[in-house]
Amino acid sequence: MMMTHPGLPETWALAILALMLLTLVWAVRAPLAATGMGRPALPLIGHGVKASFPTLGPGLLLALKLVTVSLFLLVIAAGLFGSPIPERNLATVLTWNLWWAGLVFSIFFLGSAWCAVCPWDALAQWLVRRKIWGRAELNNSLNLVVPRGLRCVWPALGLLVGLTWLELGLGITLDPYATALLALLIVVLATASLAIFRRRAFCHYFCPVGRTVGAYAQLAAVELRPVDTDLCARCKTLDCHHGNAAVEPCPTGLVMGRLTQNTYCTSCGNCAQSCPHGNVAWRLRSPGIEAEQGARPHWDEAVFMLALLALTALHGLSMMTFWEDWMRTLARAIGDSGRLLWSFSLGLVACLAAVAGAYALTAAATRRLTRSRLPFKRFLTTFAFAALPLAIAYHMAHNLNHLVRESAGVTQVLHNPLGTGALPFSMAEKQVRHMNLLLWQDTLFAMQAGLLVLGFLVAVRIVRRRGAAVLEADRAGQVWRLLPMLLFAAGITGFNLWLLMQPMVMRL
Ligand code: SF4
Ligand code: SF4
Repeated sequence: MMMTHPGLPETWALAILALMLLTLVWAVRAPLAATGMGRPALPLIGHGVKASFPTLGPGLLLALKLVTVSLFLLVIAAGLFGSPIPERNLATVLTWNLWWAGLVFSIFFLGSAWCAVCPWDALAQWLVRRKIWGRAELNNSLNLVVPRGLRCVWPALGLLVGLTWLELGLGITLDPYATALLALLIVVLATASLAIFRRRAFCHYFCPVGRTVGAYAQLAAVELRPVDTDLCARCKTLDCHHGNAAVEPCPTGLVMGRLTQNTYCTSCGNCAQSCPHGNVAWRLRSPGIEAEQGARPHWDEAVFMLALLALTALHGLSMMTFWEDWMRTLARAIGDSGRLLWSFSLGLVACLAAVAGAYALTAAATRRLTRSRLPFKRFLTTFAFAALPLAIAYHMAHNLNHLVRESAGVTQVLHNPLGTGALPFSMAEKQVRHMNLLLWQDTLFAMQAGLLVLGFLVAVRIVRRRGAAVLEADRAGQVWRLLPMLLFAAGITGFNLWLLMQPMVMRL
């Protein structure tokens, strides 16, 4: 029997819709200079909390890497040699239920901190550079410059779509062996990239997880930046970029004094260790501020952000009770059989095309209304940042459901990571798990509703801020001209709200 989790109740949905309506009214009436609450205006966080924090030292970073690499090796061992029962094997439980579901939360609070302790990159570094500490010689690497055609996020986008296909289409989330093979494949790709290209091309251009983290990190509440920008402006050595005798250069070629985006920073801390003036620190900021104004639009990154929006919706759709019926109907129509991979592939393409088409139409309408002289492609990229808060809000609300409702019993898997001798969940065990939430159900609903509202508010701020740059000076007061783009944000939030209201199929 298929177990499902209850969806968000109607009362919460009505409250969200009312708040969205009020926000829309405010958004088309308030002058563009008004932005709503940012960090500096928040009580305690705005003024009371120390705004900058030192980075972790190399010793602590190495210790954290050793922990993640150990867990990673345990996942591989469990996947290759353990039980094929997904809910009893650490490979599937840790990878899909805990790490993949929890990663997105870490981005909001810690930016790209995951990349600093990523086991794929750590293993690739240790295998190629043959040094686990400090600056290594350029041994074992051809150290080639990445060809111009690959210096973009298209490879990562292709791998992200492929990963989604494996995850939802082929169902490797239920296969410990395939999960381990996928994890190993990524180590191979990271190692090969390091052995061929200079710096960390895999993290910079190819890694689907790293680029997802980088895109979402534009909304993070923290950033790594110079303490004193004037000091950076006068700096002649740029040790943060080149490294020094003991510390590696910036893996993605950034210069701290010119850094305006979290996107390609892997939080590795090299710049903080190499800067002779100790001029690099973490600081708090208003979530979303970078996507509102600091981030520069690039075509490939814009498409990546829109794809994230589509793929998060697909994740939600694939966990609905009606999804299988949809797939079977489509399969009958196209003569598909077996694992329905063609049907799923068509569904995936349709989802990507629907979001891209709706966004392109919205952008065209907004451009017409604003009578902007920006080329259409540039217009498309300018507003694509609004997709980020909409995607991450649903991503977090959806994953929260999995984390809160499906984490009971995880300690058993930690005690028996390979699932040796374990049997599949009985119906009684499934019922117990279903009833044992990590939080009260009402708290979960409140958090999900809050996330959707927050995502919508940030999207509205992004549309208004970026709209201010698009509207000509003589139309600066006519914010209503941005209405199509605001309605796009409302439409996506409404669709995500509908998804959250549906019963959701239990993952494991
Ligand atoms: S962070 Fe340090 S090394 Fe880098 S530009 Fe600023 S002062 Fe120079
Ligand atoms: S060295 Fe580069 S990637 Fe590493 S933390 Fe500094 S800016 Fe980010």
